[in-house]
Parts: sequence; C-alpha cells; structure tokens
Amino acid sequence: MRFDRFLFAASILSILNAACVKHSTTAPTSPAIAVVPPNEAVAIVRSLTDEVGPRSAGSPGDRAAVAWGLRTMKRLELSNVRAEPVMVRHWQRGVEVGEIVAPSPHRLSLTALGGSGATPDAGIEAEVIEVASLDAIQSCTPAAFDGKIVFINKATARARDGAGYGAAISTRTRGPIECARRGAAAVVIRSIGTDNNRLPHTGITRTYGQPKAIPAAAMSNPDADLVHRLIADGKPVRMHLTLTPQLLEDEQSANVIGEVVGGEKPNEIVLIGAHLDSWDLGDGALDDGAGVAIVLAAIREIALQKPPPKRTVRVVLFADEETGARGAKAYAEAHGREPHVVGIEADLGSGAPYAIRVHGDAMKARLNELAQAVAHLGIAADTGDTSGGTDLGPMFDLGMPVIDVMQDATLYFDVHHTANDTFDKIDAAALAKTAHAFAILARAVAD
Ligand SMILES: [Zn+2]
Repeated sequence: MRFDRFLFAASILSILNAACVKHSTTAPTSPAIAVVPPNEAVAIVRSLTDEVGPRSAGSPGDRAAVAWGLRTMKRLELSNVRAEPVMVRHWQRGVEVGEIVAPSPHRLSLTALGGSGATPDAGIEAEVIEVASLDAIQSCTPAAFDGKIVFINKATARARDGAGYGAAISTRTRGPIECARRGAAAVVIRSIGTDNNRLPHTGITRTYGQPKAIPAAAMSNPDADLVHRLIADGKPVRMHLTLTPQLLEDEQSANVIGEVVGGEKPNEIVLIGAHLDSWDLGDGALDDGAGVAIVLAAIREIALQKPPPKRTVRVVLFADEETGARGAKAYAEAHGREPHVVGIEADLGSGAPYAIRVHGDAMKARLNELAQAVAHLGIAADTGDTSGGTDLGPMFDLGMPVIDVMQDATLYFDVHHTANDTFDKIDAAALAKTAHAFAILARAVAD
C-alpha cells in the first residue's frame, strides 16, 4: 500500500516540482527511500528524522536539532540565519512498567505523560477506579480518590479538522492535577489518540515542572478497553505501576530563524513557523517534522524567486512547543514590536490542505483573494475564526493577523506523540502541496 502511495505521489510531484520545488540530490539508500519523490520538503523531513531523530526539549537531540536547523537554513541559502537562545525545562523519561495484578494478570502498554512525577523505584500498587471525563472528576468527592489509581477513560473522536483531539485533550492536560488535588496515588488515562494500536500516546500534562508531580501515564487504547471491561465486571481491579521520570536542570535550546529579506519594506515581517522540538518516543516526523519541512520548503521556494518579495519573509523553527512554548514566548519578547503583517504556522502533520481560515481585519478583507491564489491546490476559503496555533499564540495576543492552512487530520492522531511517528508516515504529495500553498500565501501577503 505504501509503495503504491509513493508511486502515485511521485507522478504528481514530477508535475508539482517542475513549477515550484528544487529537486533534492539525496541518494537513495534503500528500496523504501528509492521511491520517495525528489522533493525538497520530503528531503528536509527525512534529513531531520534520520539525522536527528527524537528531540524533546532540553535533550541532546534538541541541541542536535538546533545545529541541524542552522545548517539546513544555510544550505537553503536563507539570509540572517541565527539561533536565538531559549532556556527550557528538561524532563526525562525513565522506567515505565504497568500491569494489572487482579483480578487477572495483564502487562499494560503505557508511557509516562510529559511532566509526570515518579513512583518509588519499586512502584506502587493500588485499586483502580474509572472516571469518564474531567467533569466526572470534578463532581467526585475527594474520598473516592484517596490512595487510588484513577483511570480517566475519555475517547478521542476521529475528525478531518482534528476537533476530536481538542475535545479530549483536557483529560491529559488537567486530569492528573485535578486527581492529585483529590488525593489520588497516580493517574492513568486512555491515550489521546484515534488508533487501536498497542502504542500509548504521550503529551504534556499540567504538572510539568513541578518537583512533586503525581505519577501520570497514558495506556494504549486496547489496554484502556481491557481495564474498562475488567472494572465493568465489578470485581476490584488492582494495578502495579512503576514510573521513574526525572525533572532535570533547565537547558539552553533556541529558536532557529532565517529570512528572505524584503526588497521594499524589509522591516515588515511575514512570519511562517513550525516547532523544532518533538516528543521522545518517535522521530517526530509528523509532529512537527512535517511542519518544519513545509515552512523551510516554502521559504526556499520564495528565496529562488526574482525579484524578491516586497516585505521580509521570516521562517522560525520554535523551541519547546510540546512542553511549555517557551520558544514562542521568547520570540514575542524579542520581536513583538516589529511590524508583523501575518503569521502562518504548520503543526498538523502531512495531510492534504483543504481550506484556509484567517484572523484579523486585514486578512479577513483578503480571504477570498488569498483562497483564489491556492484554489488550484484544492484549497477553499473557510469563514471560521482561528487563533493560528500554539507557537503564534503570544504574537496573536499582540495583534498579529494569522492565516491557518487547514490540513486533513483524519489519520494524524493515530500516530501523534507515539513511537509510530516516523518518516514512513509522511504523505509526500500532500506535504509538497502544503509547502507550495505556504509559499503562495506568504508571497502574496509579503507583496
Ligand atoms: Zn506539534
């Protein structure tokens, strides 16, 4: 199936590339790679995932990613390439083992949530109680949680616009802290993910950075189904859980920045961005290697155009999106007073683009014109509002208009934040299309 998809992608891309993307000279090294089309965006995400791999904030991979960002922007012949330092927290995963010990033994597939506290080295054993949602936690009496392992069982719905993720995510971000307040010994959530693989989905929880955070993990969806069935049978369910993550000293990371300098109004900025950090379980190919590839391939396309755009197009690879968005905050502190005419963020994998939304009067007035410019890529105008994404948040709060290129996220939350987030999941044709859309939109606003 994958082979066929890439062959199909190759035929589309041979057309797309002729018009818009510089061909990569990357040599094929395996049969799987040999059918990857010669496309700049794909070459970039392959380089990031194969040469750097996992790059969670503060880790050695994070430092390697910053170096990769600098050398890649130089290879793409961008101007004013630099790394702007950002201090980030550094949480490191340890042992993670969970099993049901009664009424019948089952080894669980689970992983610590980012920011989880640790159990003792020998683990803890406690009865498991199940709650359906964050609302259910808030209506429970503290006595019900005392010393228990709380299982939050909220499913994530599959949706093209990713809305199921937004509806479920508070169980991960707020669930553990709400259970800790009510005396729980630990929290184990159903993974925030739409797949039925036995792979758990990690992600940030609000205990991040707290030295005495509650142990908190996510189980794979099949394991969550199992625990739910056992509890529904009515016999007491007991779990043994060992998690030994550590909160280490803060580390230096960086926002990596490059530009195509405007020919007429170089001080006015069109910002395109994605995040350079990833979770530690996979290679961060979709989250957010795809976004990094989209914005770098887009600015490369603009860099090759003559004459240059009237305003400056700036690409920012943000630090620390997954664990605190300190890169986004640092960028706004350093650059918030510069005039930004628009921001466009890529952080939804490699699914095909299908619509644009905008925020801000200047962009609203141009919505139809901008959508027309990318209509040949299958992208329509959507009149819904948008805040643009996590990394644009602090600039959005300062009044920067945004464009949101909506990508098909139907399959994205199957692999998001799992060990399965690897290069083979990249949809090459859709990635190139999205990069081209970013280039068209950024250039249109820059002019
Ligand atoms: Zn992301």
